[in-house]
Amino acid sequence: MKIGFIGLGNMGSPMANNLLKAGHELFIFDLVQASVKKLLDQHPGKVRALSAPKEVAAAGLDLIITMLPAAVHVKSVYLGPDGVLANVSTQTALIDSSTIDPQTAREVAAIAAAQGNVMLDAPVSGGTGGAEAGTLTFMVGGDEAEFTRYKNIFNAMGKNIVYCGGSGNGQVAKVANNMLLGISMIGTAEAMSLGVSLGMEPKVLAGIINTSSGRCWSSDTYNPFPGVLENVPASRGYTGGFGSDLMLKDLGLAAEAAKLAKQPIPLGSLAQQIYQTFSLQGNGGLDFSAIINLFRKK
Ligand code: NAD
Repeated sequence: MKIGFIGLGNMGSPMANNLLKAGHELFIFDLVQASVKKLLDQHPGKVRALSAPKEVAAAGLDLIITMLPAAVHVKSVYLGPDGVLANVSTQTALIDSSTIDPQTAREVAAIAAAQGNVMLDAPVSGGTGGAEAGTLTFMVGGDEAEFTRYKNIFNAMGKNIVYCGGSGNGQVAKVANNMLLGISMIGTAEAMSLGVSLGMEPKVLAGIINTSSGRCWSSDTYNPFPGVLENVPASRGYTGGFGSDLMLKDLGLAAEAAKLAKQPIPLGSLAQQIYQTFSLQGNGGLDFSAIINLFRKK
């Protein structure tokens, strides 16, 4: 397929790389020239760089994928006279894999549908490691027949491809999961800090939690206490992984979506405030498991 790819950051670059490895032809754009150049150098002859979203839109492609930081960037790339939607033919399908609020995803998809373009929301989980390995989970919202039609594309970048329902539902699944992740990480951090401050050896305590009713991903796969697990951010100074500010962004999306749905999320809101405090203290760049530093005795 001829595929446009807009947004070649930490996630977009390796995802684009996997599409190229699967034999697709790519037409790319990013505001950062270095990211564009890197992909051009890695795949000479298979990639063409274009100079604006409207050029990607007008290139007569089968599909355009976007992987942008937040809703404001998605709106700026898709909407307005220089945006993708104003310049694209109805033959080109659109997939937005950015993590944004479900409302914006639905708004943009409705404009696309009104002018005859297929649009799917397809946020991912699995982090940069999953993007590189091609093992991402895709949570996809939109028309089911179109989801099936583009499943091969998702399979080139991911392993677990899940249809979530109508437009925006991919974002709903992502927001609900990440809110629970934020809450469970804070809970694990509190429990580990309490146990250790009362005299438990951290590995023994984690072992008990991981075979008891407190077991969760934050404890058994991504434990925030240094030294409990190897190869997790907690054991390398909370570097790499999933940044606290990205978790704060996702908790903000959950809070916004909950407000519109008049749905109470007391623990989600508290988790947002805790990550906000952590960020204000200058920790936004640390992995989100570093939240344990708020509770641990120095
Ligand atoms: P990033 O900041 O590394 O990359 C975003 C890219 O978009 C950058 O290269 C930036 O230059 C480009 N961009 C911004 N505005 C643009 C515009 N108007 N036109 C063209 N390019 C533009 O972000 P990332 O880590 O790749 O994350 C992308 C999305 O995936 C986010 O929504 C994030 O929440 C989500 N996500 C990230 C992770 C992760 O671990 N990093 C995991 C799951 C989901």
